[in-house]
Amino acid sequence: MRSGRHFLQIPGPSNVPDRILRAMDYPTMDHRGPAFADVGRKALEGMKSIFKTEGRVVIYPSSGTGAWEAALVNTLSPGDTVLMFETGHFATLWQKLAEKLGLNPIFIEGDWRGGADADQIEAKLREDKAHAIKAVCVVHNETSTGSVTDVAAVRRAMDAAGHPALLMADTISSLASVDFRHDEWGVDVTVSGSQKGLMLPPGLSFNAISDKAMKLSETAGLKHSYWSWQEMAGPNDTGYFPYTPATNLLYGLNEAIDMLHEEGLDNVFARHARHATAARAAVEAWGLEILCRKSSDRSPVLTAVMMPEGHSADNFRAVTLRNYDMSLGNGLSKVADRVFRIGHLGDFNDLMLIGTLAGVEMGLRDAGVPFREGGVQAAMSALGKNSDAARAAA
Ligand SMILES: *Cc1c(COP(=O)(O)O)cnc(C)c1O
Repeated sequence: MRSGRHFLQIPGPSNVPDRILRAMDYPTMDHRGPAFADVGRKALEGMKSIFKTEGRVVIYPSSGTGAWEAALVNTLSPGDTVLMFETGHFATLWQKLAEKLGLNPIFIEGDWRGGADADQIEAKLREDKAHAIKAVCVVHNETSTGSVTDVAAVRRAMDAAGHPALLMADTISSLASVDFRHDEWGVDVTVSGSQKGLMLPPGLSFNAISDKAMKLSETAGLKHSYWSWQEMAGPNDTGYFPYTPATNLLYGLNEAIDMLHEEGLDNVFARHARHATAARAAVEAWGLEILCRKSSDRSPVLTAVMMPEGHSADNFRAVTLRNYDMSLGNGLSKVADRVFRIGHLGDFNDLMLIGTLAGVEMGLRDAGVPFREGGVQAAMSALGKNSDAARAAA
């Protein structure tokens, strides 16, 4: 038994607010009965406002990985070439998934210290005179490294190259935390999940779909059944699903959509940006290095921190969990044990941030990691300095 609240400061799953927990604490209803249509329609329509699209949104009862697969199998054919960019662990997983499906991914190598480079994407597309590349896939917020890709710049690069490939973006950890505009940025398939910025438990995933991608799904050759947009479309038009939806998660989703609009999406984005600025001020004051090198690419959702040489990030995380009951994100694959990740997303406020950073500072001390004191103080100063901006944004 540990008293007080556990601090779940991994960059997803994020903390689920009580309001959403209460919304889900309601009897499961007949998903084919008359009352369900309102729940289904509200979720499907409401998510359009979050993706900023007039197009179709589908909702799966699955983790985000399912929506990655759905994006590819609904639009592409065996052997199709897709262009992907190695921003980190999640971009690599999506690339491996594409390979397993029988696609031919070109993977632009990256150093895991920034977002995808639109200029390199443009150069690859210009080389592809025969238009063999059928899709460009980027991760908007690379959760393993704390870097953001400028998706609008990727669209501009595709247009500059005059290339007709589809644009796909993974927003699993950015949607409802970082500004994203499916229609305005000309994204064809946006992939997302429930358990990060949307503040829900894991278990729902999403595709937002352009008309062009929907049209391609009529003839795409990769085999699929469960993920079929075509089979979703008919029932979805009246608020229903072709198979049992995650009913109680949809109650929670509808509450989340209301909460996001009550706060205002722009205010939600400003809040995340402000907390990220303060978290980075703490890391710099500690004298530690932020994994994402390019300051313009740094994520509003999480901060990945490099450990000083010879010190184990996993040991530090274990000490912090044991002493302060706080979970921090681990380093994944290439950066395993080399970095830890501080999640500052979702249902989050100034004092939760300060508590989180205090836990990190005490954990560094307890684990014997060399650092300078004063990170929490620097974060408090950064929040103070930014409070006018935060109020103006509201
Ligand atoms: C969490 C995450 C995923 C994986 O989602 P699952 O729900 O674990 O399948 C994929 N991409 C990004 C960017 C993520 O943050």
